[in-house]
Amino acid sequence: MSPDFIREALRQVRYPGFSRDIISFGLVKDVKCEPGLVTVQIEVATRDPKIPQQIFQECHAALDSLPDIGTVKIDIDVKDAPAAAGGSTVGKSSIPGVKRIIAVASGKGGVGKSTVAANLAVALAATGAKVGLCDCDLYGPSVAQMFGVHERPMANENDEIIPLEAYGLKLMSMGFLLEDRSPVIVRGPMATRYTQQFLRQVAWEELDYLVLDLPPGTGDVQLTIVQTVSVDGVVIVTTPQEVALIDARKAVSMFAKVNVPILGLVENMAWFECDAGKRYYIFGKEGGVREAADMNVPLLGQIPINIETRERGDSGAPIALLSSSDHKISAAFHELAAKVREKVSV
Ligand code: ADP
Repeated sequence: MSPDFIREALRQVRYPGFSRDIISFGLVKDVKCEPGLVTVQIEVATRDPKIPQQIFQECHAALDSLPDIGTVKIDIDVKDAPAAAGGSTVGKSSIPGVKRIIAVASGKGGVGKSTVAANLAVALAATGAKVGLCDCDLYGPSVAQMFGVHERPMANENDEIIPLEAYGLKLMSMGFLLEDRSPVIVRGPMATRYTQQFLRQVAWEELDYLVLDLPPGTGDVQLTIVQTVSVDGVVIVTTPQEVALIDARKAVSMFAKVNVPILGLVENMAWFECDAGKRYYIFGKEGGVREAADMNVPLLGQIPINIETRERGDSGAPIALLSSSDHKISAAFHELAAKVREKVSV
């Protein structure tokens, strides 16, 4: 009986409600094998008493039936999970030097999550804060395009990746490390491992805010990220359309389950305003506003569809670089940044 053998057996135990196991979540802190006694030390941060109970029962179910195991002792240390920004959840660590980590997520692709993440980062930096933006989307990295940075990052003497810089922001993207047009074939467990390694190996140095542009959806990669680093809050982006709202709801419920504070919802592509000032509600009217109210989460902003916003995103100069007085959409992003700062101030 060896600790490795026990850890392997514990891979059957899933974190309640999720497909990931307690080993890959990093909850198992120690395993001791003595003659006739196996002790497993587990640490969980949650306010839900059912979670440690279920983990306890499932660990026993996984281990008790092993031949010659002897007595099994499962010690679970339950830490209080945060109700508000600034705390920690299961098995994760903070990034040295980084004061606040804000994730930008969406249930569905194509709703403008990367556009919101990029402009939020620019608007936060405009307040004088030191800001980094990390594009965590393995399958569709976009920060390189949105900031016009196409060099490859270098490594420092500690083998950490040095972020690139544009407009005073530190930028990192999985896209910086991939060959152009090479198919991304990393899937499943490889994707989660690669993401974890990537997040831990960037030399951000001192940052007030690190904005994480999460991949769309509510799968294992998103969970891995919020469990690997200590996320202070998540902004969820949706369009007003029902299909996007359904997925936004799933995202809100997933982050709530793992105790990541929901900072609020952003309704992107809320309307299109023509030159004459008339508004066209292309994807429906105020779907995000209603959804935020129904889910009891703050509505952080409504961003209209705007040609310049798309053009500037494609050409590497996000719209929020303009001053609020020069462009309504830039103003909307600066207001969004102000609301986010209120919620997770450094
Ligand atoms: P996601 O990250 O959700 O997949 P992106 O941010 O990449 O979405 O946006 C998808 C496309 O929509 C991009 O071409 C982007 O420039 C455009 N876009 C996003 N938000 C807006 C907006 N408010 N107005 C105009 N175009 C937008």
